[in-house]
Amino acid sequence: MNFLHIPAFIREFLFPAGCAVCNKMLLNTEEAWFGICDDCRKTLTIDKDPRCDICGRPLISEIKLCLQCRNSETHYFDRLVALFPYSGKYRKLLTAFKFDKRACIGNFMVEKLFDGLTLFPEGTLKTPVLMPVPPRPGKIKHTGFDQIECLTQKLEKIKSISIERCLERLPSKSQKELSGKERLTNLLNRIKCHRRPPKEVVLIDDVITTGATMDACAMALKNAGTERVFGVCLFFD
Ligand SMILES: [Zn+2]
Ligand SMILES: [Zn+2]
Repeated sequence: MNFLHIPAFIREFLFPAGCAVCNKMLLNTEEAWFGICDDCRKTLTIDKDPRCDICGRPLISEIKLCLQCRNSETHYFDRLVALFPYSGKYRKLLTAFKFDKRACIGNFMVEKLFDGLTLFPEGTLKTPVLMPVPPRPGKIKHTGFDQIECLTQKLEKIKSISIERCLERLPSKSQKELSGKERLTNLLNRIKCHRRPPKEVVLIDDVITTGATMDACAMALKNAGTERVFGVCLFFD
């Protein structure tokens, strides 16, 4: 038993939230720490099938590049890894974390982000510095929570990884209704790097849809002197 997990168990005992996937009662310290029952946790595995060389989505019948990357213009980032499909049980995880603000789900996601770093081909990452994708301005003020910042704080605390935060997002239109190209134009020049960035960066984000946010961050970093930009996303849409 990990003694660090005991407070989570006490909290779960006093204010039971249940498994984020199946709602079953959480019965031990580990289950409470992750907010997921042991049985569900065993099924939440990262697919080891071949992935797209650029965006990191699993390939269906394509070779090396997915259809979306084959048809789109070049990306500013070098390579991404995306871990889980944004559907079914995986989607429930993000809902519990992002909207129900169950920070314990972040403990599970941190483990997976850490595993995600091992999915890059050997020798790809040389001196990686982790960096969160910056939240929309006012997001924390409005919702009281930024899931990416919560994850990066956990990475620092649980995994003792040092995190660099040199990107800032200026106000722009919401991305939701826009297409991939519009998303990128909407974001370009809306992300600023406010000090000299590291040579190699691994960006952390929750969901990748078109990759526009990653691209805008990568462009800001490369304009400021970063040579290689990689990214790990928890979910691909
Ligand atoms: Zn469960
Ligand atoms: Zn791709």
